[in-house]
Amino acid sequence: MTASRTDNPGPTRLITSPDGAAQWLRAGQLVAFGTETVYGLGADATNAQAVAAIYEAKGRPSFNPLICHFASAEAAFAHVRPNAMAQTLAAAFWPGPLTLVLPRRASSPVSQLAGAGLPTLAVRVPAHPVAHEMLALAGLPIAAPSANRSGHISPTSAAHVLASLGGRIAAVLDSGPCAVGLESTVLDLSGPAPVLLRPGGVTREALEAVIGPLSTTAAPGAALAAPGMLASHYAPNLPVRLNATAPGLDEAFLAFGPAPAGALLFQLSATQNLIEAAANLFKALHWLDEHAAHRGLAAIAAAPIPAVGLGLAINDRLARAAAPRG
Ligand code: AMP
Ligand code: MG
Repeated sequence: MTASRTDNPGPTRLITSPDGAAQWLRAGQLVAFGTETVYGLGADATNAQAVAAIYEAKGRPSFNPLICHFASAEAAFAHVRPNAMAQTLAAAFWPGPLTLVLPRRASSPVSQLAGAGLPTLAVRVPAHPVAHEMLALAGLPIAAPSANRSGHISPTSAAHVLASLGGRIAAVLDSGPCAVGLESTVLDLSGPAPVLLRPGGVTREALEAVIGPLSTTAAPGAALAAPGMLASHYAPNLPVRLNATAPGLDEAFLAFGPAPAGALLFQLSATQNLIEAAANLFKALHWLDEHAAHRGLAAIAAAPIPAVGLGLAINDRLARAAAPRG
């Protein structure tokens, strides 16, 4: 992996220059930045290791798909395919606290980890002028969940971010207090009808005034999920066997360190580095699923991953992939 980019960020710098923030982001570092909703913990979404570092800094025990932030609708729609409703909503509410989930373009360089392996991507154009300038200068999709340690409340000032993540990230771009203080509204436009996945800064009434009545539940037949987690989780088609020290004859192998010769395998990290493994996880599952099926293999055997640090989120995702399908 690239030299200790996030291993020891040292003291977190409180900065006011959007250009400085953009430079840290372009270098693969983590930068918290204020938007009109809450402070986000940003990383270059195309850099899987930088995205893995978000999870490490937050201590988040699971990989959820992250919202990608852009300076303009045009920049966002270069990564996803907008339908007519998305165009209408973007014209009405962007820049602003509305996130749209849309089918991702095959050409998008956003890492599989940022999208948690899903065929969709959540995109947003924030209204805050400082965030806007930073995003325009970075010229990259910036993946950002809220800038707090997992389980803590969302930060609405630079001081909140420093209290929660100080010493764990490169910089905080001080953008003043957040005006909305609520998370963005998340609307899934990737299915046959729009689905409100998370209420937030743009009200349901405001959305319905533009696009008509909204459903909060998935369409009949779609997988049921816990509230706030309506997006189905990515899982490979082949069954997954956990804590396998070696693959069976009819299995492909998801390796973490020692790997047998001869098997079809994807190495998460030869040096057993958890950031590298997290960065590779979804790419690995997609790759193994495709290639194992081509070879007529029956399953994916996954090597044990230590249950520490990012290993918790990796194990959470592997356990979901191995769970019986309903
Ligand atoms: P947070 O990272 O806390 O701002 O939360 C982001 C929200 O967006 C979560 O509720 C995610 O489930 C949702 N989200 C992000 N990407 C997707 C996606 N591709 N499909 C469905 N929901 C998504
Ligand atoms: Mg949060």
